Amino acid sequence: MKRITHWIDGKPWNGTSERRGDVYNPATGQVTGQVDFAGAGEVDQAVAAAAHAFTAWRQASLARRATVLFAFRELVHRHRGELAALLVAEHGKVRADALGEVSRGLEVVEFACGIPQLLRGGFSENVSTRVDSFSIRQPLGVAAGITPFNFPAMVPMWMFPLAIACGNTFILKPSEKDPSASVRLAGLLAEAGLPAGVFNVVHGDKAAVDRLLEHPEVRAVSFVGSTPVARYVWEHGTSHGKRVQALGGAKNHMVVLPDADLDLAADAAVSAGFGSAGERCMAISVVVAVGEVADPLLGKMRERVARLKVGSGTDPAAEMGPLVTGPHRDRVASYLESGVAEGATLAVDGRRHPVNGDRGGFWLGPSVLDNVSPQMRAYTDEIFGPVLSVVRVPTYQAAVDLVNANPYGNGTAVFTNDGGAARRFQNEVEVGMVGINVPIPVPMAYYSFGGWKSSLFGDTHVHGAEGVHFYTRGKVVTSRWLDPSHGGVNLGFPTNA
Ligand code: NAD
Repeated sequence: MKRITHWIDGKPWNGTSERRGDVYNPATGQVTGQVDFAGAGEVDQAVAAAAHAFTAWRQASLARRATVLFAFRELVHRHRGELAALLVAEHGKVRADALGEVSRGLEVVEFACGIPQLLRGGFSENVSTRVDSFSIRQPLGVAAGITPFNFPAMVPMWMFPLAIACGNTFILKPSEKDPSASVRLAGLLAEAGLPAGVFNVVHGDKAAVDRLLEHPEVRAVSFVGSTPVARYVWEHGTSHGKRVQALGGAKNHMVVLPDADLDLAADAAVSAGFGSAGERCMAISVVVAVGEVADPLLGKMRERVARLKVGSGTDPAAEMGPLVTGPHRDRVASYLESGVAEGATLAVDGRRHPVNGDRGGFWLGPSVLDNVSPQMRAYTDEIFGPVLSVVRVPTYQAAVDLVNANPYGNGTAVFTNDGGAARRFQNEVEVGMVGINVPIPVPMAYYSFGGWKSSLFGDTHVHGAEGVHFYTRGKVVTSRWLDPSHGGVNLGFPTNA
């Protein structure tokens, strides 16, 4: 059985762990590996290595940092098939989706390669007579990243390329459900020439996370995961004096206005609802059908759902894989029961899909719940699986009110052919990432990714300019070089004369 262990100070950890966790292949339900769980001692070793490496890394030239990132970019690109295979084996997503995840992560690496430009400060000559001022941004020290199971390669790559490019050292605590990709990325960073200790991986659960949140040498924490844990990480981390950005869960609505192209909308709803088995924080989970569109739209969605190919991620024909664990599959399926009990109509029942036979694995076919209302558990909870709910509303205003009343605010989309309506939606909707005839509006690496309300705790979104800001702190220097005209004691408040 495969053993997955920490990566500390440029190499695999060689200690013996007191606690371990099982890693499954979700397509077969078999345990394929065991991952070491870090306690405070292992986290402290990683922090010590990162703190030691920081002294030299913060002085590494911008050119040197960029050179390492360019080399890393090439290595990830060359090994993308191998990385995708790790994602398929432990997460269960299909291969095309896994390859897509690696390329979206690479975009952030490419953005970070431009660090010399991104870290440029400002300079003002003569802020006072013969006095100049300039601003610089400096690294924080040791930064930590805590990441979810659903993007084991991409979400870490939202964080560490920029953190490192800015001159910090980094400790990643990936999801214990699919930990192998993080260790492979650590190996590729070493091969790219990153000095030992600049990037470390510790595996584990709450014990490892708590030590990272409390360790005095950890200066900043980036978190992505569910809302209750995001809130906890933000509260606990900030109370220990750390800078924290904590991205939480989601309930993404796709509003379909009466004038929309219904074939485009049905394609989008089914792609965005069932891609990666609905286990994406930007997945569409609620279709808001305005006015008369509900029946024809539902008909078109059913046709498309019936044609979806569900199967193992290693099958090139499969479009949707299994769920990540057995308990998660059971929890997702429970919303079909509770939805019907609370008055929804089960338009497509994924439990009847042939894939739910006795072949092992954590399978659930795609489901559509119609006539869902905002009080139902299927609406109030984040399901995070292949269940698309349809809420019928009479007007545009009712649709916007529904989206804005929801506690989450990660992503949303409007489908319409009316530019004025789309513009009004982008202006009025209280959500961080908005798509117009685009169902999964994930920003490119040079913009910043993040939601509003309970989908993000903290002030800064990840990657893009806000990512650079998060991993650095500003300093302003005011300088005067001696000049024959200097002179005299002056107790007055400095002026800009
Ligand atoms: P999770 O919150 O269970 O776990 C996330 C991380 O926190 C993991 O590393 C886990 O080990 C750790 N953790 C879990 N429980 C903890 C606890 N009690 N104390 C301290 N640490 C703990 O999330 P998940 O199930 O791995 O991922 C799915 C969730 O992530 C969904 O809610 C999804 O919406 C969210 N997500 C959000 C975004 C975003 O950008 N907003 C992106 C991806 C996933």
